[in-house]
Amino acid sequence: MVLFVGAKDLWFLTTSTMRNILSTKSNLLSGKVELHVHLDGAARHSTLYELAKRKNLPLPGDGTLEDLEKAIVRTEGISLYHFLSPYKFYNDYYKGDLDAIERFAYEFIEDCSKNNVAYVEVRYMPHKLLGTELYQMLGYEGLKETVRRVYQGLKRGEDEFQVKSKSILSCATKWPVDTVPDTLRLAQNCTHYGVVGIDLLSIQPETGPHGRFFGGVQYDRQAVEIYHTDRVGHGYSVVEDSNIYNSCLQKRIHFECCPWSSYLTGAVPFHTRTHPIAQFAKDNANFSLNSDDPTLTGRYLNEDYQLAQSWGFSREQFKIIMWRYTSGDIEVETYLSTTETDCKVILNKIWSNMN
Ligand SMILES: [Zn+2]
Repeated sequence: MVLFVGAKDLWFLTTSTMRNILSTKSNLLSGKVELHVHLDGAARHSTLYELAKRKNLPLPGDGTLEDLEKAIVRTEGISLYHFLSPYKFYNDYYKGDLDAIERFAYEFIEDCSKNNVAYVEVRYMPHKLLGTELYQMLGYEGLKETVRRVYQGLKRGEDEFQVKSKSILSCATKWPVDTVPDTLRLAQNCTHYGVVGIDLLSIQPETGPHGRFFGGVQYDRQAVEIYHTDRVGHGYSVVEDSNIYNSCLQKRIHFECCPWSSYLTGAVPFHTRTHPIAQFAKDNANFSLNSDDPTLTGRYLNEDYQLAQSWGFSREQFKIIMWRYTSGDIEVETYLSTTETDCKVILNKIWSNMN
């Protein structure tokens, strides 16, 4: 069993043999791998709008799709709390609606294909998707059905758009109940629904000197030294502490970096001269590029790669990221617990775009 801990998210995964690979084509990459993205943070605005209209739920502003987009998409990097605040109203549009959740999953895969993603690990909190009321009524079985419906949507998408996907279940100790025990049980029992890991959300209040970086370097230290993680979500604060940073470099700890969300959560100020991700590249750290929450950033993975390009990332650097997946430098044991053929299809798809 491999343990992964994030500065914002903490998770661990179990087994596998298949490597993730990335490849390049023109300036942007094709056959990309995405490891850090939230399912309900990747819902289409148009779908949310349709759901709200159909259910007669309150919409922001004048009730137009444009006003909904304006209320959801973050444009300033104020704080993680501010970044996540649109969930407070739009969660009502889909919670407990398993048809909507399955649709999210299906459309998510279509959007992945538009961004040339070959393999994605998408994360979600079953308790949040099901909603507290239904959870109280249905308990564990309701959660399991939620996982099944997500899987069904992902699978339909996979069949249609040829993007391979797996799921990571998010949980938290205080949301608004401790969701960890259920999630551990689900993870054990739902591998046949493509579940490959657990993500323990540990969102810190973003005030004080450490607010800048999702809870600060002390949290990264905890991730690495206490949980002995192999993968860290975000983790930008490690560059602030040379001891912990050098230790991460030495151990080849993987950072799941999310360019646009790093700014829009306020984790990294827009005016930062050298973005920590650019520093990671300079120091040959072990990292990937991910989209985190396209619904909230208003930007999909291709735009995260474009942002990295604006920091000076070259095609060669993107290739270095790709080689991490192929060389085993990254301990991403992807959960293609499937067949040799599946592995070959993905490998071929990615490698065919390499040159
Ligand atoms: Zn995240």
